[in-house]
Amino acid sequence: MDLLQLQGKNVVVMGVANERSIAWGIAKRLFDVGANVIFTYRKERSKSKIEKILAGQEATIVECDVNNDASIANAFTQIGEQFGVIHGIVHSVAFAHAEDLHNRFVETTRDGYAFAQDTSAYSLIAVAKAAKPYMTEGGSIVTMSYLGAERVLPGYNVMGVAKAALEASMRYLAADIGAENIRVNAISAGAIRTLAAKGVPSFNDILHKIEENAPLKRNTSKEEVADMTIVMLSHLSRGVTGETIYIDSGYHIMG
Ligand code: NAD
Repeated sequence: MDLLQLQGKNVVVMGVANERSIAWGIAKRLFDVGANVIFTYRKERSKSKIEKILAGQEATIVECDVNNDASIANAFTQIGEQFGVIHGIVHSVAFAHAEDLHNRFVETTRDGYAFAQDTSAYSLIAVAKAAKPYMTEGGSIVTMSYLGAERVLPGYNVMGVAKAALEASMRYLAADIGAENIRVNAISAGAIRTLAAKGVPSFNDILHKIEENAPLKRNTSKEEVADMTIVMLSHLSRGVTGETIYIDSGYHIMG
């Protein structure tokens, strides 16, 4: 019995920078379950990285800079025309200026705030809008969040505020496009050593703290995040929308 029903489904994966990316972990699982994976990238460097780590595996790779409406529209028109229907989207994209993570929060600039919001939160809405005309069979959109959305975590600063907006946007989108049978959910992932995580000051301390305090006494792997993302993209989660799901060894429940 095909419980997942992802075989042959067209899933867009946004945010693979290299083999450490959470999005790459998800893409690998999508290949395992027989989905057609369509990658988007911002920089040429990422495109070459994706081609390299694909190691001959068939996949379409499309440019999409989420700070740019024309780029988003071109990407989803191209994907829609090539594949006809989009069944799933993995939004695994975020960025903030380094100084806004390193400086005191009170020093956050208007530009830095707007840039983090635009890239990391508004992009979910823009992507859903561009993809919706091709999500004609319903579908599932999954975005990546972090505990910094709801708790003050040192060094997360403007990105925490962007993640709060991302989770709220996820809920409003879920309510808005649920009638078209499109589900929207967030995964709140534990700390994982990736390129983006390098920008967060004292990331090693965060990893140690989680290992000591999380109920499961260990950090989260990108494979664990990938597995739950597959569930959230699949038929198994058909009754779930507007939800933030924690894949963080239970760390968020601790005081
Ligand atoms: P990563 O650096 O591998 O991925 C971030 C991706 O965002 C990169 O591929 C980058 O190219 C892309 N990106 C940034 N600006 C973009 C733009 N304008 N247009 C298109 N793409 C753009 O790091 P990651 O840790 O895999 O991050 C993926 C997601 O997971 C992010 O939303 C991140 O906040 C979230 N997350 C990460 C952790 C962690 O500890 N690593 C924990 C929770 C949530």
